Amino acid sequence: MDPASKSAAIPLLRRLLKQVRPYWLQIAGILLLDVAATPLALLTPLPLKIAIDSVIGSDPLPAFLQVLVPGLVTGSALRLLLAAASMQVLIVLAIRLRDLCSYVLRTRTGEGLILSFRTRLFRHVQRLSLSFHDSRGTADAVYRIQYDAPSIQGVTLDGIVPIASSGLMLVAMIWVIARINGKLALVALAVCPFVFLLGHTYDRRMGGRYMHLKELESRALKVVHEALTAVRVVKAFGREDAEEERFVHRSREGAQARIHLAFAEGAIVLAVNLVTAIGAAMVLFIGIRDVRSGLLTLGELLMVVAYLSQLYGPLETICSRFAGLQSSMAGMRRAFALLEEVPEVVERPQALPLKRAAGAIEFRNVSFAYEQRNLVLREVSFAVPARTHLGIAGSTGAGKTTLVSLLTRFYDPTVGQILVDGVDLREYRLADLRNQFAIVLQEPVLFSTSVGENIAYARPEASEQEIVEAARLASAHDFIIRLPEGYQTQVGERGMALSGGERQRISLARAFLKDAPILILDEPTSSVDMGTEAAILEAMERLMQGRTAFIIAHRPAMLAACDALLTVEHGQVVAMGSEALTVPR
Ligand code: ATP
Ligand code: MG
Repeated sequence: MDPASKSAAIPLLRRLLKQVRPYWLQIAGILLLDVAATPLALLTPLPLKIAIDSVIGSDPLPAFLQVLVPGLVTGSALRLLLAAASMQVLIVLAIRLRDLCSYVLRTRTGEGLILSFRTRLFRHVQRLSLSFHDSRGTADAVYRIQYDAPSIQGVTLDGIVPIASSGLMLVAMIWVIARINGKLALVALAVCPFVFLLGHTYDRRMGGRYMHLKELESRALKVVHEALTAVRVVKAFGREDAEEERFVHRSREGAQARIHLAFAEGAIVLAVNLVTAIGAAMVLFIGIRDVRSGLLTLGELLMVVAYLSQLYGPLETICSRFAGLQSSMAGMRRAFALLEEVPEVVERPQALPLKRAAGAIEFRNVSFAYEQRNLVLREVSFAVPARTHLGIAGSTGAGKTTLVSLLTRFYDPTVGQILVDGVDLREYRLADLRNQFAIVLQEPVLFSTSVGENIAYARPEASEQEIVEAARLASAHDFIIRLPEGYQTQVGERGMALSGGERQRISLARAFLKDAPILILDEPTSSVDMGTEAAILEAMERLMQGRTAFIIAHRPAMLAACDALLTVEHGQVVAMGSEALTVPR
């Protein structure tokens, strides 16, 4: 491992330990079961030995069995044979039970680890600011939650646990061999430095490549994600083949990287096996010479050779697990990197609670840029008293949607302040602040549940009657009852089973149902016909009674319903109409 990745590995392991701590008991159980596997396996030939030596032959039972088995059994050959046969069954049963327990415990612990880690990642991603999602897209976060998070199982249960149990086995076998013959134990161990050197080289050369591989795979997923979310556009422009080409290109890079890494992994395992084979050959060579010169008995040599595989097995396991660990560590790094992203919009400590705002709003010298370079809003200043209905007009791309996005703290102003009821909105608790707004977004977003649940999204406890009432106000009730299952109709993913105007009216109904003191309507009637617009307008006027409202609109009819008008061009307020509007400074 090179110094850079080593320095990164230690904090990573520390964070990992913190994440897996609630599962330490289960992990210890798995480790114990793993360690128990070898002694159990070593018991397998015992019944056969008893049958041959003590039933057919007349040797006494091994000493430890004489303690365990009552004298009654040892008295007759038949009983002894029966005991040996039952022992055979019991041993197999014990081995299989151990396998079963290990399998179940491993699965339970692994799934638990992954689920809790995924939950943490998902919670974090949801809390990240919109600017993070705008700039990174969703596919990478999806990849990290879905494919990188399971690395936690890879590192702990398939990495650290087997390495630890193999390490214990290794020490035990060294002890056993050293007791038979110290010199041969040293000869057998002479290969260890070479094995670790191999592992070290592999680590240094491959560590970074796994990160790169994950990057490639995540980019391939991004293509799928983009192409499928925009499948209508892809089809309409006949770009299926081009998208496929893009996908194959990205995936091929990933596949080649994987093949390359598989070769490297195979090569390291081969090299380690070769080194241990050389170790075994050395033991044989020196052992036979010692037997011939009378330093060692043949029996001792045979035992040492038989135990060698038990010694080198764990050594090889450690090495191959270390190789596999690289991939999981790369996944962990990526998952933890996501957790390190800090939300830009954060709640202050001791933030103020806000039950229900009156709705006075003031922009003080607000400038805003999505990216550092170009300002989208420039020194916007205006103030509206509570219960003002403010129309916002301006050409496309002027910054209208951006302006209202700052109100709900989707983003924070780069410069300046926004005040709600005379207090900077950054002083309020975030959830309380957002609770003050009912919003109809420019592009209505629905969830893949029923129409009714979509309307009740902001108030899941709303009664059916309230939902219907809200739908009526938004001129949505009539078309909803004509749907095959009325309010229970599923709207399809992102509401794709509905027309644009229908989606818009459902999101209006959603805003109507949420009884919030401030309304934000971003072109709420852009996708409906004139007649429906008139009906909605009338309902909106009723809804806006006693509330502050920001209405972005192009059509004069909508703006006429407002008692103040703000015109935005190129991120600046160019005109303000009506006396409701006061301009500070
Ligand atoms: P429209 O009438 O078309 O809805 P708008 O006035 O609402 O336009 P905004 O959406 O506020 O315009 O966009 C203002 C400017 O900010 C545009 O130039 C746009 O390219 C840019 N912009 C909008 N959203 C982002 C974003 N998430 N990241 C970077 N730039 C953005
Ligand atoms: Mg807009």
